[in-house]
Amino acid sequence: MMNLFPTSHPLLKRFDKYATPILAVVGLGLLLLETRRPLRQRTRPRTERWVRNAVLAAPSMPAMRLTLLPAMVGLGNLMAPYRTPLSRLPEPARMLAEVLLLDYLGYSWHRLLHSPLLWRFHRVHHSDLDMDLTTGWRFHFGEMLASIPYRAGIAALMGVRGSTALGFEVVFEACTAFHHTNLELPFKVERRLAPFMVTPRAHGIHHSMVDRETQSNFGVVLTLWDRLHRTLRLNVPQQDLTIGVPAYADPAGQTVARLLALPLEPQDTWALPNGEVPEHPEYAKPMTELAE
Ligand SMILES: [Zn+2]
Repeated sequence: MMNLFPTSHPLLKRFDKYATPILAVVGLGLLLLETRRPLRQRTRPRTERWVRNAVLAAPSMPAMRLTLLPAMVGLGNLMAPYRTPLSRLPEPARMLAEVLLLDYLGYSWHRLLHSPLLWRFHRVHHSDLDMDLTTGWRFHFGEMLASIPYRAGIAALMGVRGSTALGFEVVFEACTAFHHTNLELPFKVERRLAPFMVTPRAHGIHHSMVDRETQSNFGVVLTLWDRLHRTLRLNVPQQDLTIGVPAYADPAGQTVARLLALPLEPQDTWALPNGEVPEHPEYAKPMTELAE
C-alpha cells in the first residue's frame, strides 16, 4: 500500500530546509513592521492575546506539517499514474491551472468554514478581539485536520502535483500572514494592490463583528474569486471596524481551555452577550473601492 502521509518525503525535507526559514523571516519582518505602523487601534493588551494565540497554534502547526502537507504529496503521488483534468494540459499551462485551482480551493474552503458545522472550528480563529500576525496562527487544530480531504484530496483528484501544492503552500502561508497583520500600508499603495490581492484592510473587514461584512472577502491570495462570486467588500473604513465574533466579545470568556473546546459548544447566535446585533450603515462608496 502506498504511503498517504509520507512525512519525510524529499519534497517535505526541502520544505523544512527552505520554506520554513523563509516563512519565519517573513513572519518576523511583518511582526516588526506592524508594531511600528499599526493600522487599527488595539482593544486588548498584546501579551494577553499573544500567549493565547501561540498556545492554540502549538498543536495546529505540527498537525499541518505531519498531516496536511504530507497528504498533498501522498495523494498527489497516488493520482500521478491516472488521467486527471489537469494532467492533459501542456506546461506551463498546467502549472498555472494548478496554482489557480489551489487558490480557488482556498477561497471555497474558507466559505465552507463559515457554514454551520465548520464554523464551530473556524470561530476559534474569528473570536480574536484584535487582529495581527498572531491571529494568522490562531486556528483550531481540528480545522487543519478537517481541511485535508478538501485542500489535499480534491486538489489531487483534479491533478495537482505534490510539488506544486507545497510550492503554492509557501505563497498561501505568506499571504495568510500578510493579510492578518495589523500593518498600515500607505493607502495609495494598498488601493493599488487591493483589486488583485487580499490586503490587511480587506481581511480586517472579514473579521468584523457585522455579519454582512464577515460574509465577504474570503480570498487568500487573489481577490479574483471574491469578485466572481460577488463577495468582495472593500468600502468599510477601518476605524468603523470592531474585530471579533459578537457572542465571544467578553475577553474574560476567552480562556485557552474554552477555545480548545469551542467546537463542542452549541452554535452561537450572531449577537453580543447583551443581545445587541452589531450593525453598520451601507457605505456610499462602491463595494469594490477600498476605504481608508
Ligand atoms: Zn473566516
